[in-house]
Amino acid sequence: MRIGVLALQGAVAEHLHMLSELGCEAVAVKKPSQLDGLAGLIIPGGESTTIGKLMAEYGFDQRIRTLAAQGLAVYGTCAGLILLAKEIEGSAQPRLGLMDITAHRNAFGRQVESFEVDLPVPVLGDPPLRAVFIRAPYIVRVGSGVEVLARYGDKIVLARQGRFLASAFHPELTEDTRLHAYFLRLAVGKV
Ligand code: GLN
Repeated sequence: MRIGVLALQGAVAEHLHMLSELGCEAVAVKKPSQLDGLAGLIIPGGESTTIGKLMAEYGFDQRIRTLAAQGLAVYGTCAGLILLAKEIEGSAQPRLGLMDITAHRNAFGRQVESFEVDLPVPVLGDPPLRAVFIRAPYIVRVGSGVEVLARYGDKIVLARQGRFLASAFHPELTEDTRLHAYFLRLAVGKV
C-alpha cells in the first residue's frame, strides 16, 4: 500500500520512517502529481500557515480535495489537524477544510511549548499512547459526523470523520506505531 507524506515543510522524515516500519511504500510528496495512486496522505506537523500557503501556491489543495472526495484517506498531525479543519478560530489562513471541526491554534498557551502525556485511546486498546504535544492545537467543536477518539482533560485531541483522522499530538516522534497502523486500516476501509 502506498502512503504519502506531504513534504513541503515540517516533520516529514519521522512519518516516512514509521510508515516503512509498518511495511508501506512511503512517499515524500513534493509535487501534486505524486498524489496519484496513494491510498492515504499524511499532513505533518510544522507551521500550518506556511504549509497552507505552499499547498495553495503549488496546487495541492484542489487536487487533495478532489482525491479525498474519491476516497483518499488523510491524516493530519498538529499543524496537519489545523489544515484539515473547516474552521480555525480567529484565522482566515488557507486550509483544506475536509473535517467538520473547529481548531484552536497554540491552544495550550505559550508558556507550555511542549509536553508529553500517556493518553488513553480506546480504539487502540491498552496501554495508553505516549502523546507528544508541541505548540499544539486542540479541537473546540466537532460536527455530528465526527467521532471523538481521545481527550486530554476536557480537550479533544484526536478525532475521525470517515477516512479523515486528526491528532493534536505527534505519534511519529515515539516508537509506538499503533496510531499509524489505525490510519492504514482506515485507509483500506477496515475500521
Ligand atoms: N502551532 C503550529 C501551527 O499553528 C503547529 C505546531 C506543530 O505542528 N507542532 O501551525
